[in-house]
Amino acid sequence: MTALDDRSVRPSVTTGPITGSRKVYREVDGIRVPFRRVDLTNGEHVDLYDTSGPYTDDDATIDVHNGLERIRQSWVDEREPANGAVSQLAYAKAGVITREMRFVAAREGVDPQFVRDEVAIGRAVIPVNRNHPEVEPAIIGKKFLVKINANIGNSAVSSSIEDEVDKLVWATRWGADTVMDLSTGKRIHETREWILRNSPVPIGTVPIYQALEKVGGDPAKLSWEAYRDTVIEQCEQGVDYMTVHAGVLLRYVPLTARRVTGIVSRGGSIMAAWCLAHHRESFLYTNFVELCEILRAYDVTFSLGDGLRPGSIADANDAAQFAELRTLGELTHVAREHDVQVMIEGPGHVPMHKIAENVRLEEELCGEAPFYTLGPLATDIAPAYDHITSAIGAAQIGWLGTAMLCYVTPKEHLGLPNRDDVKTGVITYKIAAHSADLAKGHPGAQDWDDALSKARFEFRWTDQFNLSLDPDTARAFHDETLPAEPAKTAHFCSMCGPKFCSMRITQDVRKYAEEHGLTEVAAIEEGMAEMSERFHDHGGQVYLPVVDR
Ligand code: SF4
Repeated sequence: MTALDDRSVRPSVTTGPITGSRKVYREVDGIRVPFRRVDLTNGEHVDLYDTSGPYTDDDATIDVHNGLERIRQSWVDEREPANGAVSQLAYAKAGVITREMRFVAAREGVDPQFVRDEVAIGRAVIPVNRNHPEVEPAIIGKKFLVKINANIGNSAVSSSIEDEVDKLVWATRWGADTVMDLSTGKRIHETREWILRNSPVPIGTVPIYQALEKVGGDPAKLSWEAYRDTVIEQCEQGVDYMTVHAGVLLRYVPLTARRVTGIVSRGGSIMAAWCLAHHRESFLYTNFVELCEILRAYDVTFSLGDGLRPGSIADANDAAQFAELRTLGELTHVAREHDVQVMIEGPGHVPMHKIAENVRLEEELCGEAPFYTLGPLATDIAPAYDHITSAIGAAQIGWLGTAMLCYVTPKEHLGLPNRDDVKTGVITYKIAAHSADLAKGHPGAQDWDDALSKARFEFRWTDQFNLSLDPDTARAFHDETLPAEPAKTAHFCSMCGPKFCSMRITQDVRKYAEEHGLTEVAAIEEGMAEMSERFHDHGGQVYLPVVDR
């Protein structure tokens, strides 16, 4: 019996298309690649990158007790290893373009050969465990669309399996490209099984959390054996990438002594406690080669954790943070030699003027391995609004080359996020990621903006709603003041009203120009000349006497 056979667990997930969209598939080399299609009222359509899996497909049958269709099973079963390894990196190095590479190329609108090249040099990763056949592959790298991650998972004081499965589906519905299960509470193994079997996106974990649970929550009792067995258990289940805080070395711990907020990473503080308790070097560091061999067998991607990331503006870019980054660079090269894909995790809390240095150093020290950053928060002063403080940093670091942004919800620093917080965090980070795509000039990124702007200018209100990241909220805000159906084609909204609607006035100018055979500039000039004549006719006075009518 598997965890999913447990009928006492009854998750209810959101299904059906996002308002105003429908699921379409493009057939590419026999592979079905999903998109979110928005049909416009002018007969055109826009296809958008879609992370929501079969849940938004009207034709799909969803049964959470069965899990999703295993679309990759035959891809994995049919191919031979490359140089004895089954990782995307090994295939790429051997010149093989895998089906996963074709899938992501179609999603991103790029050449499969380009995908292979980027994976082969380690500048991009495709986190796809052989044991997670349900996943729709995604690529993470600076030359591709900026991705976002949503964290879910229970804690000792809150949440259930049902809640976590619901949050998984909810997060991917709004655009989460990957989801991390950070469960630290009860039933960690079962919760993860439910998440994996029902997830269309890559799943990441931090295995040290479960290892710590296994030894009763005392970091000093941790051992390499307990940790290794946990990693193998999670690899077997199908986890696609794992945060490993192997760069927290014993000699770096004193560097954090004078920090304002010390060590804020959970994994970092656990490993620092272990190193101090035993006065020995981290077992993650000393056993790193064995860890590479385990991950390689499943094609699990390393997300080398920043256990010493700054937890406050005061601690940004300090000696502890960059000492660890240097070690992560060293480990990146070891992992790549073993054909294991690698991402590097980054901060945290960094003021805007210190962000660029993070990207420059990460690229230099870690051979341009995809950077995966938490925000960073650009200021510390806004608890309850840290999705915004962090999106400011995230947009900037994404523009500078970060490949994946880990979302922050309004509950950051305050409590476990609920469903609404998850949606707010995801939408906020989609904004940051897309803004970075635009700034980087990613081919095709602006098409989405152009389609929405055009709809806005032409007062196609329904199209404007449907093209937005959150159609329901956009429509609800509009309808709050102008709910009647005719308002969906009206040439104004309640913000400026009919007489001051600048877009309507611009359209009037254009119409006048067309009717009078003028360019727009000439139309404006002619209009101004007319007004000037009237001014002189009235005696050239700025203020005219009030006339009773
Ligand atoms: S009324 Fe103002 S906000 Fe509304 S559509 Fe016109 S210009 Fe835009």
